Amino acid sequence: MTAAEPQPCDTPDGEHDGRVRLYPCGWRCSTHSPWALAGMPEPGTAAAKPADPSAT
Ligand SMILES: [Zn+2]
Repeated sequence: MTAAEPQPCDTPDGEHDGRVRLYPCGWRCSTHSPWALAGMPEPGTAAAKPADPSAT
């Protein structure tokens, strides 16, 4: 069978790590994700938890 499996991520070089997700720029692993390249913590974690608008 020749199933078209997705590559680790769209970045061809470097070491890949973490979960591969589909970003606006394409499939990226945690290492090559936009937020990682920007020095941001992984979205969805407690640090990046969005504020509840109904809390105020
Ligand atoms: Zn990668």
